[in-house]
Amino acid sequence: MKGVLMIVSGPSGVGKDTVLNRWFERDPNVKRVVSCTTRQPREGEVNGVDYHFLSPADFEGMVLDDQFLEHKNVHGNYYGTPLKQVEEMLAAGIVAILKIDVQGALTVMEKRPETTSVFLLPPSWEELERRLTSRGTEDAEALAKRLKNAKDELATAPKYQHQVVNDDIDKAVDELARIAEEARK
Ligand code: 5GP
Repeated sequence: MKGVLMIVSGPSGVGKDTVLNRWFERDPNVKRVVSCTTRQPREGEVNGVDYHFLSPADFEGMVLDDQFLEHKNVHGNYYGTPLKQVEEMLAAGIVAILKIDVQGALTVMEKRPETTSVFLLPPSWEELERRLTSRGTEDAEALAKRLKNAKDELATAPKYQHQVVNDDIDKAVDELARIAEEARK
């Protein structure tokens, strides 16, 4: 079976993790590519599951060795998609999911035009605003920033081949699965 490289992006608060985790439970042939990072693990994060946590020196070595499909540096922390893992999954017929930010997504689309790209949308802006607002204990300034980021992210949705609305988790997964099957052909 042909493997599929699929980017899934979406604004914070859209329920990306919930939808993807449901899909991973439903289909063992769908797996996330585990990114590398130099940031510190957060409470509960597991090396090799959430990220491959690397030292800056190791990460830089991989950059020099051209081992990333794409990588970025945000506020001194590196993040990157390991090329070898992507190739291995595709060779094994897996639907390999890249859960990366918009900038990384655009880089991958340019480097690999055959990549399938999906943007997860909230049912409405009001609903996303409600989710982002009810989440936080943060001050008004942080909340305003969060809402602005979400708006900026939403504006990139047309750059993706597919837009899937997440108003029902299982329906969103059905739609992702349909898109992946289409890409296998
Ligand atoms: P966090 O540190 O909160 O886990 O992630 C910070 C940001 O980095 C998120 O937007 C996440 O999607 C993004 N990210 C995680 N892994 C990668 C990657 O391999 N490449 C890119 N470009 N972004 C990533």
